Amino acid sequence: MTAAGSPRTGGELKRLAERAGRDLEEASALSVLTWAAEAFGARFCVTSSMEDAVVAHLASRAFPGVDVVFLDTGYHFPETIGTRDAVAAVMDVNLVTLTPRRSVAEQDAEYGPRLHDRDPDLCCALRKVRPLEEGLAGYDAWATGLRRDESPTRADTPVVGWDEKRQKVKVSPIARWTQADVDAYVAEHGVLTNPLLMDGYASVGCAPCTRRVRAGEDARAGRWAGRAKTECGLHG
Ligand code: SF4
Repeated sequence: MTAAGSPRTGGELKRLAERAGRDLEEASALSVLTWAAEAFGARFCVTSSMEDAVVAHLASRAFPGVDVVFLDTGYHFPETIGTRDAVAAVMDVNLVTLTPRRSVAEQDAEYGPRLHDRDPDLCCALRKVRPLEEGLAGYDAWATGLRRDESPTRADTPVVGWDEKRQKVKVSPIARWTQADVDAYVAEHGVLTNPLLMDGYASVGCAPCTRRVRAGEDARAGRWAGRAKTECGLHG
């Protein structure tokens, strides 16, 4: 909605994203989120994989009570669900959990067991991409924790960009941060992190598709390891 309360068109949102992308490239993460909160209000949310709660923490400072959206695929590590529950308990956010249309058992019955091994693109489409698209329907803008240094596929992540597929403004307030920046913020603010990060995992996704990383590997090397897949489709 605009300040006057009327919905913005896709064209207006796209122009807003393009202008903000230029203006906010060098802005601090907190400034970017403050801009998003003022520009979009309740039509703005943060998505979190619960690898850590850095962006949720930043957003709660810029916009207390902000919606934090978590995709519960049914395949998460218990540590990830525990991190989500702790975030909901201690941070000033409104946690929104999205679930796929089918439970894991229902998916197994329809497509056969372990679809993630045989067709991970379809599994991600059913358990991540579609639920997110449905869950974002009520928002004009969403924030992610994408960082340029995570992998070559993320090297061009804009701080504010246009999500053509979903016709929404996509905000990545820590796009320019390094892992050292994340670690420093976590230490300074006592931010919750997934315990698996202390157990050899550098990036945390669904349990069947995530392994620990080895020395010298990039942070996302443990995701879909050994398969021709590097992204789930949420950011493509
Ligand atoms: Fe399925 Fe693996 Fe994608 Fe999770 S990451 S939705 S288990 S293919």
